[in-house]
Amino acid sequence: MSGMMKMCEICRVRASSYTCVSCGKKVCADCYLAQVGVCDDCAKGKERSNLLLKQLKECGAIQFGVFKLTSGKESQYYVDIKKASTNPEILEEIAENMERYVDAERIAGMALGAVPIAVALSLKTRIPFVIIRKEEKMYGTAKQIEGEIKQGEKVIVVEDVATTGRSVKRAVDLLRSAGANCERALVVVNREEGAEELLAEHGVKLISLIKMTDLM
Ligand SMILES: [Zn+2]
Ligand SMILES: [Zn+2]
Repeated sequence: MSGMMKMCEICRVRASSYTCVSCGKKVCADCYLAQVGVCDDCAKGKERSNLLLKQLKECGAIQFGVFKLTSGKESQYYVDIKKASTNPEILEEIAENMERYVDAERIAGMALGAVPIAVALSLKTRIPFVIIRKEEKMYGTAKQIEGEIKQGEKVIVVEDVATTGRSVKRAVDLLRSAGANCERALVVVNREEGAEELLAEHGVKLISLIKMTDLM
């Protein structure tokens, strides 16, 4: 069936004749930006993440310069999404950016940083959420997950900042032991210190709205 005409994956009206270099979608000439080689969806996504980045810089959530970390090491930048997630406009923009990656029956956010993000995304998508508690010294009766997880339910983890990925991995482990099917995590800023690799080893794809190496 080599001659079969495939429809554009965006408008579904015209024949597809181009492939987006970013997402691989097959699209028509009208849904394609030839100068950059990307589809309309990816071009809009780029605009969105540029706006989010601008907002994060403006509110001081992302700063460039020389910063001394608590570990004593120096960093070329500083990230604190809490400065952003208390601002309704930025929080809404984070949810707008994340929405298209959410293919799940439940959202999971880790206390404390991801809670406003999980709530915003839940309001936007109408998908319910759970909160994962911080690691506690006292175990016993303390419940690690606030909210309900159903057997086999598809759950996506959201986080504000990923560094090594250990905290996202802990969330995934907890969700899986509660019966969840967890294959995707979404983060606002990826500091890229091994998170993507660690999670991939455990069968989780990490999607980052902003990767720090893209900005350096
Ligand atoms: Zn089209
Ligand atoms: Zn695309």
